[in-house]
Amino acid sequence: MNIILLGAPGAGKGTQAAKIAEKYSLLHISTGDIFRANIKGGTEIGKLAKSYIDAGKLVPDEVTCEIVKGRLTEINDGFMLDGFPRNLFQAQELDKFAKIDLCLNLDVDDRLLLDRICGRRMCVCGASYHVSSLGGKTACEKCGKELYQREDDNPQTVGARLETYNKQTSPLISYYGKQNKLATVDCGTMSPDEVFGCVVKVLDKFIK
Ligand code: ADP
Ligand code: ZN
Repeated sequence: MNIILLGAPGAGKGTQAAKIAEKYSLLHISTGDIFRANIKGGTEIGKLAKSYIDAGKLVPDEVTCEIVKGRLTEINDGFMLDGFPRNLFQAQELDKFAKIDLCLNLDVDDRLLLDRICGRRMCVCGASYHVSSLGGKTACEKCGKELYQREDDNPQTVGARLETYNKQTSPLISYYGKQNKLATVDCGTMSPDEVFGCVVKVLDKFIK
């Protein structure tokens, strides 16, 4: 099974991706994580990506598509793309080098996103939290490491990221809808575990 996880910034893709990858043994490919690792490692790709990421814009398609293509040549079944494709061009390119079974769209009310992203705190272990649920704690509940805030999780960049999503990424909902490959989970105000319950229902039905 090859799936795409679609959703606005702050919709909870990363949180769900970790749970899905574990339960269904899928290789999790997050373009955002790949770019952040490159930035940390000081690579050429990282230097280029940083300027776009800081501005809330998309990293150029040539670079992004090459990275994903490279990862997918190592495997051809059993992956989950998180953060790719992010525009129609990327989706069309992807169709040339991989077979996608399902696009899982996490639908969250626009008004919740800004607060979610700006209040988000991350851990190097992959866990993420919202400040409102930390009660002043600054360490990860899972591994004890100090939490940090992603550099692009600030009000200015978030506004641009949401605009980029609405203009460039949201058309993918109808792109996959037309191919009968779309499943939308209406996340409303559900907790991450409740959302995952809905995700599992969709995926289990799909696998059978
Ligand atoms: P989020 O979905 O919360 O915005 P991501 O970690 O998926 O976070 O992405 C962070 C940033 O990385 C994006 O704002 C964008 O600049 C860049 N990026 C990630 N995936 C892509 C992609 N497929 N195409 C272009 N840029 C991307
Ligand atoms: Zn941790």
